[in-house]
Amino acid sequence: MFTEQPDREDTLRVAVVGSGPSGFYAAEALLKSDAPRYRVDMFDRLPTPFGLVRGGVAPDHQKIKSVIKAYERIAESDRFRFFGNVLLGRDISADELSARYHQVVLATGNESDRRLGIAGEDLEGVYSATEFVGWYNGHPDFRNREFALSGARNVVVVGNGNVAMDVVRILAQNPDRLADTDITDYALESLRESTIDKLTILGRRGPAQSVFSPGEIKELGSLESATLTLDPGALELGDVTKAWLENDAPRDAIKNLDYLRSVAESETEPKPRTVSCRFLISPVELLGEDGRLTAVRCERNELYARSNGEPRPRGTGEFEDIPADLVFKAIGYRGVPIPGVPFHERWGIIPNALGRITESHEGPVRQGWYVVGWAKRGPTGLIGTNRADAKETVALMLEDADNGLALEPIADETEALLKSRNVRLVTFADWQLIDAEEISRGAATGKVREKFSIIADMLTLLG
Ligand code: NAP
Repeated sequence: MFTEQPDREDTLRVAVVGSGPSGFYAAEALLKSDAPRYRVDMFDRLPTPFGLVRGGVAPDHQKIKSVIKAYERIAESDRFRFFGNVLLGRDISADELSARYHQVVLATGNESDRRLGIAGEDLEGVYSATEFVGWYNGHPDFRNREFALSGARNVVVVGNGNVAMDVVRILAQNPDRLADTDITDYALESLRESTIDKLTILGRRGPAQSVFSPGEIKELGSLESATLTLDPGALELGDVTKAWLENDAPRDAIKNLDYLRSVAESETEPKPRTVSCRFLISPVELLGEDGRLTAVRCERNELYARSNGEPRPRGTGEFEDIPADLVFKAIGYRGVPIPGVPFHERWGIIPNALGRITESHEGPVRQGWYVVGWAKRGPTGLIGTNRADAKETVALMLEDADNGLALEPIADETEALLKSRNVRLVTFADWQLIDAEEISRGAATGKVREKFSIIADMLTLLG
C-alpha cells in the first residue's frame, strides 16, 4: 500500500502515536533532522488526522483551523506515512511498537475530562464540555450523545477557560451564524431548536484569575444574539488579588479586567439571550428531581494567597441555588491510560522527564519512548505552544540516538502485522479522499465541509 524510499545507514524509524498538533510538530522536527535521518509513521485511532484542530476547535474559528495546511505539508514528505484507524493497545501493542521502531513518541493528548467530584454529577442534564465540543464537531466518540437544548431555559457553565468560552458562545450564538461553517448538520439542527435564554458562567476565583483569552471574552461580549452581563461589585478586588496583580499576574489578567469593567459600565441592550459572568463561586452539589437536574447549589468563595502568592479559592459557608436545566462542565481535560504505557493517575498525564517517558513519577526512563503535548504536560497552552514543546522532546530523541540509546527493532513490517489482523488501515491518501468528499458535501449546502462522524461511513467511502 505504501511506496518506500530506500533507507540510509543512519535511518531511524519513529512511531508517532497521535495526529493532533503535538504529533505533527514532533514529526516536523524529526523530519528536519539530517543525521540521523528519520522516517515517521504516524498512528491515529481515527481514520481522520489533526486531533483537536478537527475535533476541538470551534466551527466559528475557521482561521485557527488553517494551521492544518502546515500539517499537510509535513505529511507530503516521502518519509512520512499515516496509519489511521489504528488504536494503540487494541490493534498494536506497546511491546509491538518497541519491537518495530527505533523510537516511539506518544502525542495522545488528553481525551477525557476532569470531574467535579460532587453529588448529582450523574443527573440527566449534566454534561462535560468534552462531549459537547466533540458532538458539535462530529467526533465519532460523541456523535450519538444527545443534549436537551430544546425545552431548556437556564444553563450553567462551570469553568473560566477558553473551552467554557467556546461552549457558551456556541450555545448563545445565533445558529444562522454557524450555518456556513463545518459544524455538523445534526448539531446545527439541535441548536436551532434550542430554547435556552439564560447562561451563567461560574468562575471559582475572581475575574482577574479568569484563564480565558482576552480575545475570547471580547468575542462573547460582541455576539448580536446575547448580552454579556456582570455585577460591577464582582470587579472590586481584594488585597490578595491586588498584591498578585502587582507581582506575577499574567498580562492577560489586566486585559480581561479592563474588558470586564467596560462590560459592567456599559448600558445593556436587550437581546434574545443573556450571558452572566459570576465569580468567586463554586458548585458544591447538583440538585435534581426524578433523576433530572433542576439547580446548582453553589458556595461563595474568598481568595487566600498560597505561599508563592497565587490566589486560591476557599468556601465561605454562604450558599445559593442557581436554577439550571443543563450544566456543562468546562473544568479541564485529562488523559486516559493506554495499555502497556505508564500513567500518572492523579495528574492524568504520562509521567516523563522533559519528554522522556518514565516508568512512574520520577521513576526510571523507558528507553526509546517519548511524549509530547498535553499527554506530556497536561491540558495547557494554545496550539502553537505544542511546537516548542515537541522540539524540546525531539532534541532529547536526537541526543539519545546519538548516544546509542535508541531501540533495536526488527524489520519494518508494521503494515503486514496490521493487515494480518484485518485492520482497515487508512493512509494519508485515503484521508484525502474523505477530506474531498466532506468538502464537496459541504459545498452542496454552502458549508465549509460536512464532516463524516461515523467511522463505518468513512470506511465505506474508501471501499
Ligand atoms: P483551563 O484553561 O485550564 O480552564 C479550566 C477552568 O476550569 C479554570 O477556570 C479553572 O479554574 C476551572 N476549574 C477547574 N477545576 C474546577 C472546579 N473543580 N470547580 C470549578 N472550576 C474549576 O482549561 P480549558 O478551558 O479546558 O482549556 C484547555 C486549554 O485549551 C487551555 O490552554 C485553553 O487556552 C486552550 N483552548 C484554547 C482555545 C482558543 O484559543 N480559542 C479554545 C479552547 C481551548 P482555576 O483557574 O481556578 O483552576
